[in-house]
Amino acid sequence: MSHVLAAVAWPYANGPRHIGHVSGFGVPSDVFSRYMRMAGHDVLMVSGTDEHGTPILVQAEKEGVTARELADRYNRLIVEDLQALGLSYDLFTRTTTRNHYAVAQELFRTVYANGYMIKQTTHGAISPSTGRTLPDRYIEGTCPICGYPGARGDQCDNCGNQLDPTDLINPRSRINGETPEFIETEHFFLDLPALADALAQWLKTRTDWRPNVLKFSLNLLDDIRPRAMTRDIDWGIPVPLPGWEDNPAKRLYVWFDAVVGYLSAAIEWARRSGDDTAWKKWWSAAAEDARQYYFMGKDNITFHAQIWPAELLGYNGEGSRGGQPGRYGRLQLPTEVVSSEFLTMEGRKFSSSRSVVIYVRDFLSRYDADALRYFIAVAGPESTDTDFTWAEFLRRNNDELVAGWGNLVNRSISMAAKNFGEIPPLVDPTPADEALLATAREAFDTVGGLIERHRQKQAITEAMRVVADANRYLSDQAPWKIKDDPARQGTVLHVALQVVSDCNTLLTPFLPHSAQTIHELLGGTGVHAPMPSIVEVDDLDGGPGYPVLTGDYTVGARWESRPVEVGRPLDPPKPVFKKLDPSIVDEELARLGG
Ligand SMILES: [Zn+2]
Repeated sequence: MSHVLAAVAWPYANGPRHIGHVSGFGVPSDVFSRYMRMAGHDVLMVSGTDEHGTPILVQAEKEGVTARELADRYNRLIVEDLQALGLSYDLFTRTTTRNHYAVAQELFRTVYANGYMIKQTTHGAISPSTGRTLPDRYIEGTCPICGYPGARGDQCDNCGNQLDPTDLINPRSRINGETPEFIETEHFFLDLPALADALAQWLKTRTDWRPNVLKFSLNLLDDIRPRAMTRDIDWGIPVPLPGWEDNPAKRLYVWFDAVVGYLSAAIEWARRSGDDTAWKKWWSAAAEDARQYYFMGKDNITFHAQIWPAELLGYNGEGSRGGQPGRYGRLQLPTEVVSSEFLTMEGRKFSSSRSVVIYVRDFLSRYDADALRYFIAVAGPESTDTDFTWAEFLRRNNDELVAGWGNLVNRSISMAAKNFGEIPPLVDPTPADEALLATAREAFDTVGGLIERHRQKQAITEAMRVVADANRYLSDQAPWKIKDDPARQGTVLHVALQVVSDCNTLLTPFLPHSAQTIHELLGGTGVHAPMPSIVEVDDLDGGPGYPVLTGDYTVGARWESRPVEVGRPLDPPKPVFKKLDPSIVDEELARLGG
């Protein structure tokens, strides 16, 4: 048993999230967390909405509301979407809580006290026509790295690289198009060169990461230089140093605070649980059984494999300048950065502005959550860029989920219900019966091991292979043709029902909604796959209230084959999965923008 932290990338609260966002890390982190809990680990799955930074301000201006109002609206919408998908967060919170402000400021102060946050003179933009400071968000230009013409003063949305306004080619003001003038200004920089040796030593021990992620992370060390951790912006966390904290025009850089969210969310969870120090079981460097897994898209590797570990090393006082840990004590570094690749949509990049997008909410208004979860697990962007097409979604749903798994469930339970009204006994099993039962039992080790190593595509394929074996067994044994030997007919159906039960457990991390239904169709009661709920909470330190996602996941199925109970009554089942009409492909394509 380990303490396992599932640290899931924080969705940005400047709009609704689309299926690309949840396929890279939302659903995979939930599959992992659900499996690890079923296997007996003590999992803490945390995340929240990321609500600071330039794009929030830009969107708020566009909608004519304050940044806080915009964040409130999309925080709630995102919370509802993630709940509908069944993502089992222990706590899904947000970065505008007072707890998060306090934790982010504690990190900054200690990293500064240890000498890893250095003040540097840099160039800030002013508007030549007014003479006033031009915040980063008002500056656009061409990205010097990828050539994208709409890069912002702090980041390029096309290649994901962090930028400074002075890096931009042909910088211009978004207000009036004029070329900004750059004057000298002061900012705090994370002294990455002083942490580079410690980062390299830590990365050298990370041998089991996905090779492309490890290679990318090691390459980052080649061109390591200090990175600005404060910004000319008026929306964000105040810089907690004398002479700075009251300056309304300087704030912590959004990425400095967003990654601290993994820690602050664990602390908030502990405070809400009634044991203020419970978070240390996942976070203290002294907790030897703690493991931390970070889930994100590949555009965020830099922040999770370099910036966040560097913040932690600086906090622990483990760079070349030494130092002392702050009041949280020495903290854990990530065990693994589990990065996924990108999902495209019908061969194109997702783009809200060009309507090449399908929002989670729209998707779930027309299709079941488990249909999407199945597609993501079996055909998502786990280790290569992957294209979502409606034709492929239809095929996977109808041919695999409905005709494969749904058919096995339906015909096994309906034949047993019709002929026996209950689960019949196993009498004199044949080698074919025993072989199928053994295949299902043995799949627990295979499928579980693959999920633990973040090979979910292979894991669900293995589980579906058992489903296919069971369907073949039913066709071979043809229990519907056995007219004069009820004991043999019952035995075949007993075997089928046992394998349905086992496959249902194997598929529970992937398909929790239908797993609960199938558990009940097999005559089971109580919670099989626990679900998250939305709870309205007060801010712990006096700020405005907000909705969180949380749940009790100590209940539910274990990762094991459980013998079905002979004599348990069975009713004729309703179909678990919906067969889709081929016409949905054209309908959905018509909804996409040209
Ligand atoms: Zn770029």
